[in-house]
Amino acid sequence: MGWFAPLDGLAEKGLIVIVRNYYREPADVPTRDRNPGTPKDVPTVDLREELFTLAHEYGHFRSYTEGHHNSEYSKALTALEGAARPLSESTCEIIWNEEKRAWDHARALLIDNDITQLDDFEKRVAMSLSEYKKRFIDPPTEMDATTSHDDEAC
Ligand SMILES: [Zn+2]
Repeated sequence: MGWFAPLDGLAEKGLIVIVRNYYREPADVPTRDRNPGTPKDVPTVDLREELFTLAHEYGHFRSYTEGHHNSEYSKALTALEGAARPLSESTCEIIWNEEKRAWDHARALLIDNDITQLDDFEKRVAMSLSEYKKRFIDPPTEMDATTSHDDEAC
């Protein structure tokens, strides 16, 4: 999972975070070691999926530098994270367009880097956008708040 966040006061700069659950703290130090108590059935990192996540978060960064992370987007994001449903049509459209734009940038980045076998990528895009459609209808659960601040969370 991952996310992008602009850095306050630093125009055109931001932070992309990729999270690997169960890996030893501190999280900003690369390691192959797991935290004590990690369940044995936790799968290893799928680097291809992680690449897609990274490319998608880069897509959000690109969108941010293009000026799409404006006050309307911030309001839409706040509404998405809130419990009130249904979301307005305009809120859904703003979020949907941003997610689609981030995936479009991700696709272009992969192609620019000679990654052209994109079947799995396109499946991931379809799944992610489908999950957003659910989130437009269903409010976030407490589980979402504690476990998922990922690309699916914009
Ligand atoms: Zn996203």
